[in-house]
Amino acid sequence: MLNIVLFGPPGAGKGTQAVKLLEKYQLVHLSTGDILRSELKAQTELGKEARNFMDKGELVPDKVVIGMIEGKIDSNSKANGFIFDGFPRTNAQAKALDEMLSKKGTPITIMLALEVEKSELVKRLLLRGKESGRADDQDPLIIENRIKVYNNETTPVKDFYASKGKFKGILGMGTVEDIFDRLCEAIDDLK
Ligand code: AMP
Repeated sequence: MLNIVLFGPPGAGKGTQAVKLLEKYQLVHLSTGDILRSELKAQTELGKEARNFMDKGELVPDKVVIGMIEGKIDSNSKANGFIFDGFPRTNAQAKALDEMLSKKGTPITIMLALEVEKSELVKRLLLRGKESGRADDQDPLIIENRIKVYNNETTPVKDFYASKGKFKGILGMGTVEDIFDRLCEAIDDLK
């Protein structure tokens, strides 16, 4: 199995690249942001609980996100592998993911971390806000907070995988195709 953590700040291009990667490598895409947005739209209890955090650009509590992802892994037991997008975002989530996957005997293969300059992130997010209507992509203050939360709470997850020899940084600047080629090269090098 090929289990990839696609990592990077908001606006790094994780969602765009995940869609291309899952087609090429036949993987299941698990984006916690997408799952949370669909819970929000369906006005479930989970969605209502998550909304307060998402609206401010804060992280949804670990317990909520971990429970959610566990259910998705269990319901895709025949998958070739997973692309985790936007998860794990804290060391507690990374540890929980390790435990879930070790029960299944299929560990994380690698974390691929997209590296993008901050000014480019803000530009991409504001553009996506205009095109998609996503509220948290339209307000410069919320964008600023999401990047701050990423730097403070999420970047330590890099060390979690680096200490296991499973971290690879990928330049996330340039065209979508250029970035995709770099990701594929890193994945094909694993074989
Ligand atoms: P994203 O689509 O990945 O940018 O996520 C949008 C929002 O959903 C984030 O700003 C958080 O509020 C929430 N979220 C998504 N994934 C997670 C996660 N793994 N842990 C905590 N909160 C998350």
